[in-house]
Amino acid sequence: MKKLYIQTYGCQMNQHDSERIARVLQRLDYLPTDCAEEADLILLNTCSVRDKAEQKVYSALGRWRELKQKRKDLIIGVGGCVAQQEGEELLRRVPYLDLVFGTHNIHRLDQLVTEAAAPGRRPVELGFYQDPSYMEDPEGRPQVSGPKAFVTIMQGCNKVCSFCIVPYVRGREVSRPSEKIISEVRELARRGVREVLLLGQNVNSYGKTSAGELSFAGLLGELNGIEGLARIRFTTSHPQDLSPELIEAYATLDLLCEHLHLPVQSGSDAVLRRMRRGYGLSEYLSRIERLRERCPGIALSTDIIVGFPGETEAEFRATLEILQRVEYDEIFAFSFSPRPQTVAAKIYPDDVPSEVKKRRLEMVLDLQQEISLRANRERLGCVEEILLEGPSKLGQGQLMGRTRSNRIVNVMGPKGLVGEVIGVRITGASANSLTGELLKIEQREVA
Ligand code: SF4
Repeated sequence: MKKLYIQTYGCQMNQHDSERIARVLQRLDYLPTDCAEEADLILLNTCSVRDKAEQKVYSALGRWRELKQKRKDLIIGVGGCVAQQEGEELLRRVPYLDLVFGTHNIHRLDQLVTEAAAPGRRPVELGFYQDPSYMEDPEGRPQVSGPKAFVTIMQGCNKVCSFCIVPYVRGREVSRPSEKIISEVRELARRGVREVLLLGQNVNSYGKTSAGELSFAGLLGELNGIEGLARIRFTTSHPQDLSPELIEAYATLDLLCEHLHLPVQSGSDAVLRRMRRGYGLSEYLSRIERLRERCPGIALSTDIIVGFPGETEAEFRATLEILQRVEYDEIFAFSFSPRPQTVAAKIYPDDVPSEVKKRRLEMVLDLQQEISLRANRERLGCVEEILLEGPSKLGQGQLMGRTRSNRIVNVMGPKGLVGEVIGVRITGASANSLTGELLKIEQREVA
């Protein structure tokens, strides 16, 4: 057996892609290893959404130069978003690199690795496909490694947000056929998975580019009936595609968790226009209002960019105001950095000084800490339903679970309960997590 080492950067979609990479390469008898030094094949699955992505890739490759010098038969490859963006340039700058594959080419990786092993061959494969079959699991049998599973339902994005590189590196929207998704989720549930996280760059526009396909809410409705499944989540979504039908799904589908990640990016209409987000603040807020009417108590999380080109102090203050107004449960905040090929990089000077970006980012994060802490403290004494996912990072025999609203809860309990949906009483709260006590067996029923 040969050994495969994969290093993954970026989001859940990339983690999921790395699992697929490992399955495709089983066809060539590669087994995964955690140690690059003992690998016969090293693959770097990259992300280019944030600043310094390219430097991170080149420095990782630099660390493996010595390994390649010692073992000429070692194959080193780069895939994912930076591979899609840089292409042949990677081969030019890294003479010992053997292979470059883009985001749509995982299904062909066994052929590409075979080609890379041949003398003098350094394949580069960057094609985009509109036929969704490239997303299908190579072995037709999804991997199960715990009570939760990722399921890719679509890839790519047809929006044109001016800061975002995704449409250039992931291509146009392509949705998998709903019958394939439903049968995959059914199989996952049959094999013990309790929660699925549906993945896509713009997941709630699922089906829009496939004639006759279910809508996203329609797909959720079908998945809601699958026996054995306890929870459905999805990420990430765009406010424009938060349809009335999807809002209604939160009110009617019992497996759909009461949590929505809805990136707002900025609290200023002027900045949103420059970002080309396609909505204004009042539209965003009215959708949230409708959602909260139909699903009271729903948890919301969001993405924020500070220091977008031209962002004035007043425009930044509007972002602080939106955080206070919506009271998100969680945010993911970043400083703007121009990404190659994007409209913002081409037409706007990156004119907010880095120390101003840094201060704004700290202010946003500090404010959110206060809001999250307040929201978590309100849970003290409440009974919550959690899915126990595995050992807690806190150690000491604790288990980690999540509420339906996506809050982390650490509890003492036997490992045998992993995979159970169970009632807990909340006994402690910090800004980032909760502590709980398992309810006694006779109490769990009422949780
Ligand atoms: S909707 Fe999301 S993925 Fe698509 S361009 Fe905008 S930020 Fe990028």
